[in-house]
Amino acid sequence: MRAIVRTALARAPTRSVALVRASSTDVDRHRSTIFDRRNVEFLLWEQPAFASQAGDRDTLGAMLDAAEALVTEHATADAVADAQEPVWDPATGAVSIPAETRAMLNAQREGGFTLIGAAVEDGGLGLSLTASTAVNSVLSCGFTSGLGGFYALTHCAAKLINAHGTPAQRDAYVKPLIEGTFGGTMALSEAQSGSSLSELSCRARHVSGDEYRLSGNKMWTSGFDHDCFENIVHLVLAKIDGVDTPKGNRGISLFIVPKLLPDGSANDIALNGLNHKMGQRALPNSYWSLGDKNDGCVGYLVGGVQHAGLMQMFTMMCAAASEGSSRRRRRGCRVDAVESISRAGTTCAWPWACTRPAVGSGGSRRV
Ligand SMILES: Cc1cc2nc3c(=O)[nH]c(=O)nc-3n(C[C@H](O)[C@H](O)[C@H](O)COP(=O)(O)OP(=O)(O)OC[C@H]3O[C@@H](n4cnc5c(N)ncnc54)[C@H](O)[C@@H]3O)c2cc1C
Repeated sequence: MRAIVRTALARAPTRSVALVRASSTDVDRHRSTIFDRRNVEFLLWEQPAFASQAGDRDTLGAMLDAAEALVTEHATADAVADAQEPVWDPATGAVSIPAETRAMLNAQREGGFTLIGAAVEDGGLGLSLTASTAVNSVLSCGFTSGLGGFYALTHCAAKLINAHGTPAQRDAYVKPLIEGTFGGTMALSEAQSGSSLSELSCRARHVSGDEYRLSGNKMWTSGFDHDCFENIVHLVLAKIDGVDTPKGNRGISLFIVPKLLPDGSANDIALNGLNHKMGQRALPNSYWSLGDKNDGCVGYLVGGVQHAGLMQMFTMMCAAASEGSSRRRRRGCRVDAVESISRAGTTCAWPWACTRPAVGSGGSRRV
């Protein structure tokens, strides 16, 4: 564990490391305006079920400090991302993302934060689910505008390919996704097919081996296009042409559709527009098409297995299906919704409430 945190801190930007050291005393640790450190420590080390998973207190404590330092350093990114929704320029095809978002994503990558939940053999830091959830929850407390979605989707895409991909697919995509040089998306929905995925009309034609040509449209894809990553790996549901394809959900297959192909050329995919959102505005939400220009866009059948797409996609949707236990599957969603956004709200509201005459002025503890 000590080796792990040394690696994490060695990767952290110099300023973050300085902040880590400056804020590592017990007194300072309880001063956070982002999250309630005492509560987190109570959950991690004073509850036997978690304590056995959390690991060494000093080591994980330093990682929590590092996460808090990163969030503090990039505190403006959240408000800027909320105020400046990504904009698509149809003339150039470019999606503009605020500089603050890009800087935060770079700092997260350079600080080694994309590696924490991944296994050591995949190039990650090998933290337990409990420990990585604790660190991620600090990041989520600081970024409630959807900024966390870039790496959350990416991490889940890596999990999916790791769990279901062929050895060649794993070699090509898992490491860059875990390191955060590639991004990942999930493309299930179409305009006519949201809850009812059996209605989807995206088609795939077999070429050879696991290679197919895809055509159709996708709607609502989060993080489909921007220039924050070297490449973006889309996991796309489609139905394979042919009489053998079962009807309904049992006939859905899953494909890896990279923005850039292995030879560096652009795949035949095109952004058609961004959807305006009321919340989670940092992450562009997109309407896009496959196979408009050429002979269909290139897609690689996940694991080389036909008609297993929905089952495979559930690994990504539930973020942790490969962990085994169904009780753990929705933990990633809960971290954002309960652990982080609610906790960040409570942390901000508590000191303000203490100053209200109605509940006791001067920081009364009657709240
Ligand atoms: C912010 C945001 C991000 C998203 N990101 C992604 C993404 O990254 N990738 C992706 O693929 N999709 C994404 N989506 C799409 C999302 O998964 C769909 O919105 C969702 O699947 C619902 O589909 P729909 O919007 O077409 O609603 P519909 O399917 O039209 O449903 C509308 C309403 O009808 C109800 N309903 C539908 N069918 C039934 C039924 N048979 N019985 C009873 N009630 C029913 C639903 O519960 C819902 O209340 C995103 C959506 C949002 C808002």
